[in-house]
Amino acid sequence: MLKIVEQMKSIVGEKNVITSKVDRMAYSRDLTPYLAVPEMVIFVEDTNQVVKILGVASSNDIPITPRGGGASFQGSSLPVRGGIILDLSRMNKILEISKDDLVAIVQPGVRYETFQHELERHGLSFPHDVGSHDAATLGGILASDSNGHHAYRHGRVGSWIQGMEVVLLDGTILELGTRAPRYNMGYNLSALFAGSQGTLGIITKAILRIVPKMPVSATIGGFFQNLDDLMAASHAITMSGVDAGTLEATDGYTVNTISDVMNLGFPKCEGNFVGDLEGFNEENLQQKLSIMKKILEDHGGENVIIARDEKMNKILWAPRMEIDVAIVNVHPGYREFGFAAADPCVPLTKMAEAMRNIGQIIRSHGILAAVFCHTGIGIIHPAVLMDPNNSEHWNAMKLAEKEILDYVISIGGIISAEHGFGYVKNIFVREAVGDTKLNLDRRIKQIFDPKGILNPGKMGLDTDERDEDIEFVFSAYVADKDVQE
Ligand SMILES: Cc1cc2nc3c(=O)[nH]c(=O)nc-3n(C[C@H](O)[C@H](O)[C@H](O)COP(=O)(O)OP(=O)(O)OC[C@H]3O[C@@H](n4cnc5c(N)ncnc54)[C@H](O)[C@@H]3O)c2cc1C
Repeated sequence: MLKIVEQMKSIVGEKNVITSKVDRMAYSRDLTPYLAVPEMVIFVEDTNQVVKILGVASSNDIPITPRGGGASFQGSSLPVRGGIILDLSRMNKILEISKDDLVAIVQPGVRYETFQHELERHGLSFPHDVGSHDAATLGGILASDSNGHHAYRHGRVGSWIQGMEVVLLDGTILELGTRAPRYNMGYNLSALFAGSQGTLGIITKAILRIVPKMPVSATIGGFFQNLDDLMAASHAITMSGVDAGTLEATDGYTVNTISDVMNLGFPKCEGNFVGDLEGFNEENLQQKLSIMKKILEDHGGENVIIARDEKMNKILWAPRMEIDVAIVNVHPGYREFGFAAADPCVPLTKMAEAMRNIGQIIRSHGILAAVFCHTGIGIIHPAVLMDPNNSEHWNAMKLAEKEILDYVISIGGIISAEHGFGYVKNIFVREAVGDTKLNLDRRIKQIFDPKGILNPGKMGLDTDERDEDIEFVFSAYVADKDVQE
């Protein structure tokens, strides 16, 4: 092993290889309950270094897990089979922003927020707004094919990729697409890499579609005594043709708790709606706002409020953004954990029923649930809040995730993996996608990664199990004594 460490240091420099246990621990967690400690963390600064590192890892059969910001909710960037964490956060250059071609060329380690601020300086936008905007990197976002808050209007991030540079395990540098907007030659491999979560190759560059930033925007919120009315209002907004950026809802338990804890004075309700929208001028925005306001009120929305400044915007978004802070305040010691049923997607007509029932399933097991959803695209996020020191709560979480899966399938839905597939959903994969697709996915994995060392243990590609006791994974590849303590 010492030989391997030396080889890695000769590629990236001594300071860019971490082997001390205390530093490696910093790469052992995400927002799931699992803990997996890598044997080595390597920071890369350019594509050639990635090629060489993959070469050494491949010749020694060492697992290698790429990592951007580590903001995954589903264990995606945890090194569950040990080996190397390949940290791409220092490949963080915005190489070009072209207002004329409407493309940006970026390295994978650029943080979403940094990118967005830079684009805004040029009157441009990459308008997805993932909730983890300050931590998540573009590489992690593309590799997870994330949905931002604006997915209702702008779709999945993956569909904004015009081109990509990907390093394959055998050292090939694959160039896909160009700065020209469209190509349909052969299979859409960019779409395959988007969402592959580092299991097929390492994204080292991306050419992304960008759009002009709309000059004016607003947030509108309202409170409903009944979730069915709220969902009907959301659907009526869609049918009106108003191009809202987001359509979101939070359940009454959560809104009422947040309002009490933060002293917001919201009316008691069964659900809260919040939507963002933009306009190309003030008149255009006002026209859309008045249509939305009327629809909300016609469907029983109370206290419909329009926010035009940052302070009011934050208040209206509080039910969505302050969930764990508020509930942990009422239940000290509780924490939110990413669990396998974190992102069910159901038919739009089932949204109200599913929001109620999913929350009820979790609470029936004696733990807390804050349920919110992207109303326009059918995705529901039940946040599980529990005391990590209470083993009954762990069991409750596991029972709830299986019950939610069965319930969601029974109403024609699926666990969407909007928050990533990662490690925790391994146990659902066969039931959720079926044998035929799973086998095909595994054959695709074989083509790109015949040794099974690229982010192994993920996406059900080599196992449909989840080891509940992942801890201090010291594998056969490295003897403990070889690693500096
Ligand atoms: C508070 C909070 C809010 C969130 N909100 C959202 C949301 O609104 N929408 C949403 O979709 N998700 C959300 N997430 C989940 C998460 O932020 C996203 O999945 C995000 O894309 C992760 O980016 P990252 O850079 O942290 O990736 P990481 O967690 O580091 O990695 C994610 C996956 O991508 C792989 N990967 C990373 N970089 C590369 C690369 N260069 N090449 C190949 N593979 C790579 C990793 O191996 C891993 O499998 C949220 C998370 C948090 C903590």
